Amino acid sequence: MKQECNILWFKNDLRLHDNESLCKAIADGLPVLPIFIFDSRLYDDLDLGFRKAGYNRFHFLRETVLELKENLKAIGGNLHIQYGIPEEIIPKLVEEYNVTRIYAEDEYAYEELQVLDALKHRLPKSCELHLTWGKTLYHIDDIPYAIEDIPKTSKTYRIHTGKTTEVRAPFLAPESISTIDDFPESHIPDFSTFNFKEDSELELYVKSGEKAALERLHHYTFETQQLTSYRWTRNRSLGMDYSSKFSPYLAVGAISPRLIFQKVKQYEELIKKNQSTWWLVFELVWRDYFTFRGMNVGNKMFKTEGFKGKGKDWENNKNLFQRWCDGQTGLPFIDAHMRQLNKTGFMSNRGRVNCASFLVYDYKVDWTWGAAYFENKLIDYDVSANWMNWHYQAYEIWYTNPIHQSLKYNSKEFIQKYVSELSAIDDNTIYLPWEYNIKAYPKPQEILGKWTRSINKIKKTME
Ligand SMILES: Cc1cc2nc3c(=O)[nH]c(=O)nc-3n(C[C@H](O)[C@H](O)[C@H](O)COP(=O)(O)OP(=O)(O)OC[C@H]3O[C@@H](n4cnc5c(N)ncnc54)[C@H](O)[C@@H]3O)c2cc1C
Repeated sequence: MKQECNILWFKNDLRLHDNESLCKAIADGLPVLPIFIFDSRLYDDLDLGFRKAGYNRFHFLRETVLELKENLKAIGGNLHIQYGIPEEIIPKLVEEYNVTRIYAEDEYAYEELQVLDALKHRLPKSCELHLTWGKTLYHIDDIPYAIEDIPKTSKTYRIHTGKTTEVRAPFLAPESISTIDDFPESHIPDFSTFNFKEDSELELYVKSGEKAALERLHHYTFETQQLTSYRWTRNRSLGMDYSSKFSPYLAVGAISPRLIFQKVKQYEELIKKNQSTWWLVFELVWRDYFTFRGMNVGNKMFKTEGFKGKGKDWENNKNLFQRWCDGQTGLPFIDAHMRQLNKTGFMSNRGRVNCASFLVYDYKVDWTWGAAYFENKLIDYDVSANWMNWHYQAYEIWYTNPIHQSLKYNSKEFIQKYVSELSAIDDNTIYLPWEYNIKAYPKPQEILGKWTRSINKIKKTME
């Protein structure tokens, strides 16, 4: 008979700090079998012709998981890595390793909840599943609303929650963990496992892993004090420090929102408390709101008609969608952002707003296609942040004019960086290349009347 043990199932909580499941599994006393499973369904093709999770995401996740394995080894543990279907693999491990309890983070999104459900049905009665909550800044048990009653506006949620709820203190990273003696051999997928071709063009926007996440937190706050100006820089697109870049780490759980909050509070005490420090926390609360509201609307979040059952006259021209995906629309502000996404797995919030608005309002392509493309590419892909923001762009927020915005946000350098055909243009011609007969770069499908004022304004700057 194998020694009795508990499984610790890492998913989107790939960290040692502030990890309740990890702390509980250690406190339980039995030896632990920490596992991570690459869910192979993420790498299947969708009807749209691309996968749910593409190369960028796989690469970023794989590196983060490998670092977690090293971090666990450094405290006396290890990580068993496999790929396949978690609800099939875990029951087999339970049987093989005499597992009494499984510790894991609870889920919030439709498909992930289905995986948990399927697992629960396949576990023997002798094995208990202990779920903890770790995704959000405010603990789900502490907010003043049941999920069915989450307000329809973020403002109502934010004000009432902020007045009534404290952010819990983060759990400390454990100093040691005792794992099982006969530790199983890992099967770590590489690029060929899921038929990815290694992409030599890829330049991931941030370094992966918990160590890099903690360094980034320190860099953005105490080291460079960029946080002090966040409120005024957050809408830019070029470079690293106009915004925090915490999102890729939050998405895989290499950093916890509570740790970020704690650091911001220390910063306010020791360096500066201003609109910027308030705003960063405000954004984390947005992230919470979308998570809880997403739970409230369930899988209606992913439907073309959205959770309000709204309609639009979608034209769904596949060629136009492809031009958008490839950054070949002929609109430099859009193309620069889409090419950045394809190359680095990241795009600024300003870029996301503009690219989503352009696809929905100007190309009239079903917003769910765009959301699926972002899901494939973004290294910070987060179910509710992505789909709820896209839903907002499609149905709740007005049109964003990409010509006006390219000038307003002074995006010349950004366009030069990502649109190589325009890299040598050093004046405002760069915003209207079709007007100046720049042959190497595609022409827009159509010059829309609603852009005329912005076009004329840019031309005036050239006189
Ligand atoms: C169409 C669209 C799709 C998006 N998809 C995602 C996604 O898949 N994953 C994701 O994390 N964010 C998504 N966002 C939100 C936002 O663009 C990113 O969180 C932000 O650009 C990440 O950069 P940062 O970490 O430097 O953000 P900062 O400006 O430094 O903000 C700090 C943190 O607050 C949270 N945050 C900020 N803005 C938002 C927002 N609008 N909604 C939810 N959380 C927010 C993020 O966790 C972010 O890391 C999307 C926005 C749009 C318009």
